[in-house]
Amino acid sequence: MMKLDIQMFAVPFRKVSKTRKRMRRSHNAMEIPGMTKCSSCGEMIKPHRVCPKCGSYKGKVEVVKNEAA
Ligand SMILES: [Zn+2]
Repeated sequence: MMKLDIQMFAVPFRKVSKTRKRMRRSHNAMEIPGMTKCSSCGEMIKPHRVCPKCGSYKGKVEVVKNEAA
């Protein structure tokens, strides 16, 4: 029988610590996709949509919000 303790592939030199693993995964969180800043009020909004906060689209007020409620 031949020697079988030969490593045939790259093997990590040492165990990755909890801290190191968590530091690496700090960048893995999902981001909120496709958000832009409203040009009139500065709120983070979805692009190509009327701003739900101030009712403006492309810098002009398109929808007048009903403030009765
Ligand atoms: Zn706005």
